[in-house]
Amino acid sequence: MKVIRFGTKGQERPGLWQADGVVDLRTLFPDIPDVDETFFKQGWLERLASLNVPGQPCSERWGAPLARPSKIICLGKNYVEHAKEGGFEAPATPLLFCKTPNTLNGPFDPVLLPQSSGQIDWEVELAVVIGKQGKRIAREQALEHVAGVTVMNDVSGRQAQFADSQWFRGKSFDNFAPLGPALVTLDEIADLHQLKLIAKVNGELMQEGSTRDLIFTIPFLIANISEDITLMPGDVISTGTPAGVGIFRDPPIVLKDGDEVECWIENIGSIRNRFVAR
Ligand code: ZN
Repeated sequence: MKVIRFGTKGQERPGLWQADGVVDLRTLFPDIPDVDETFFKQGWLERLASLNVPGQPCSERWGAPLARPSKIICLGKNYVEHAKEGGFEAPATPLLFCKTPNTLNGPFDPVLLPQSSGQIDWEVELAVVIGKQGKRIAREQALEHVAGVTVMNDVSGRQAQFADSQWFRGKSFDNFAPLGPALVTLDEIADLHQLKLIAKVNGELMQEGSTRDLIFTIPFLIANISEDITLMPGDVISTGTPAGVGIFRDPPIVLKDGDEVECWIENIGSIRNRFVAR
């Protein structure tokens, strides 16, 4: 099942993305909540799994497939080759940081270049969405807490990230987390740890990796993070990026007004965002 949100910004409605188009869930279930904590708590994913309704062509904008996650937890240096390209050792324990919810952006929306920081960069990442609240989740039960997966571009303001000595600002500028195109449930994913990921800038291949190269696997991360941080339905864990970001290239490449970044992951699809100056 592929859950989406569509409609104008701030007024998105939940939908299902099928081969023949989009199912507008509000027309079938007028009281269905937005895709947020309540949606998962009320068991809508399970209720929708048996739905058999044809889709319709949809020309409306798509929003991020999630509304208002309580947190977006990200992983730094979770692929060996990416750690190496930055001149770092692979970490011995997960390196966690957060992006704030104001970063959330639609899968095809523009990304505004910030005024206060330059060196804007891309990072294709597999993002895991939590469906069931949990604390001290055992590795063996971890996937029972996952609603599905999606694609995230962990857009990064390198100038702020490096100058500030910590990552909060450079990672949390408005709309720096394009997400989508859909929340894909795990029954549609062949193997979470064998998914190809690609990032292209203006059509040119920049990143090409596979989730088989994750240093810390998804069950390990869920167990590790939830030891002392309660994971809530709708929370996002973005699992880190493979090698090939712009800043560590020789010469470095940074995004400029008009550039388009496409992030693609096998079994999920593509998000495409144009970067625009204010
Ligand atoms: Zn990242």
